[in-house]
Amino acid sequence: MASTSTTETEQSTEEPAEQESALQTARRQLRHAADHLDIDPNIVERLEHPKSVHEVTVPIERDDGSVDVFTGYRAQHDSVRGPHKGGLRFHPEVTRDECVGLGMWMTWKCAVMDLPFGGAKGGISVNPKELSDREKEQLTRRFTEELRDVIGPTVDIPAPDMGTDPQTMAWLMDAYSMQEGETIPGVVTGKPPVVGGSKGRDSAPGRSVAIIAREAIDYYEKDIRETSVAIQGYGSVGANAARLLDEWGANVVALSDVNGGIYDTNGLDTHSIPTHHEEPEAVMTHDAPETVSNDELLELDVDVLIPAAVGNVLTADNADAVQADLIVEGANGPTTSAASEIFAERDIPVIPDILANAGGVTVSYFEWLQDINRRAWSLERVNDELETEMLAAWHDVREELEERDVTWRDAAYIVALSRVAEAHDARGLWP
Ligand code: NAD
Repeated sequence: MASTSTTETEQSTEEPAEQESALQTARRQLRHAADHLDIDPNIVERLEHPKSVHEVTVPIERDDGSVDVFTGYRAQHDSVRGPHKGGLRFHPEVTRDECVGLGMWMTWKCAVMDLPFGGAKGGISVNPKELSDREKEQLTRRFTEELRDVIGPTVDIPAPDMGTDPQTMAWLMDAYSMQEGETIPGVVTGKPPVVGGSKGRDSAPGRSVAIIAREAIDYYEKDIRETSVAIQGYGSVGANAARLLDEWGANVVALSDVNGGIYDTNGLDTHSIPTHHEEPEAVMTHDAPETVSNDELLELDVDVLIPAAVGNVLTADNADAVQADLIVEGANGPTTSAASEIFAERDIPVIPDILANAGGVTVSYFEWLQDINRRAWSLERVNDELETEMLAAWHDVREELEERDVTWRDAAYIVALSRVAEAHDARGLWP
């Protein structure tokens, strides 16, 4: 029973709805940002395409002795500012085009944060839930071997994504290191701290969402202690953001997981509500005056809405009903293009994912620095440096927003694209 997928038009669960693929969206956003800038069209043309895409065949022996063959990809979009960086996902809907589109987004995410990395994304078209731990380890090791010539700490540094986790990254690091003949922790980030992972990596995307939400609240001249917040998704991103905002004085009034949400206008005690990782899908077990569906949560009358679960939840169908004054994207791609236009018309600011949840890749960068210097940082240092990086990026995007009178998303893409384009311009085309 071969599980190989060669379909290149399949849609990812995270790609924008309204019939646009991740790659189409990425290209449209690139051209849109380029329209605001005086960039050599040849550079834009080049950036519409990945630098390279590696497609590999990954056979493994199943526990019953049979052999299954899977297809893996690594799309490397751009490396003008440094090694490629981006996740590896194990998911049945992984396709070549999806990896190319998501790899392009990683280029912009790294550039908006001014990290010395370019973008990449990869994965295997497989349902990891159907694999035993032994099979998953074998798949990871064989995939690493197939990619060994095109990854490395100065070339391309994978990280966890959907269906992969710190253990997967530890196997990858081990497989790569064994073949290279030395321990090379910098080949991958998101590892367990015992093999060179960084403290604070897990909480970083949620922490950055909270920092950016706090800055945006301040920018729109609201007092965080008088700000109500609704958060969809109570996993790594949503729960870390919720608890920090709660600690900083915000009134977190609504939270949800895949089963639905709870709502208390007096504010929820986020620390007493089990997160997805503490106790999966337990939000609804918490006592609260009201329950809401995930759809209703998005339309609550709150100051700040943070979609932090899955993509494409804010669409043309519900954008008009959203009552929040500010949206901060915690998930990747929660707002479709059509919804973005409606929010722009309605003057509801949407702080984009590539800025708000970029704490993950930023602490991955810190992890890589720790690995190549063989020196671990304290959690306090990680969080302090993350704060500094987030504020710098926020400042750069805000300047662009004010100067050009564009949306936050456009401003973030303009910052990112100008950095990448300037680097291409400075380096020139070789040969
Ligand atoms: P997670 O698995 O830790 O938690 C996901 C949460 O969302 C859970 O509470 C789950 O019950 C809930 N959920 C799942 N499907 C839902 C649905 N249809 N409606 C409402 N809630 C639903 O995931 P995470 O790591 O927090 O990631 C959330 C989002 O943030 C994803 O879009 C992910 O790509 C993005 N993101 C994650 C990271 C990271 O490093 N964790 C970094 C950047 C972006």
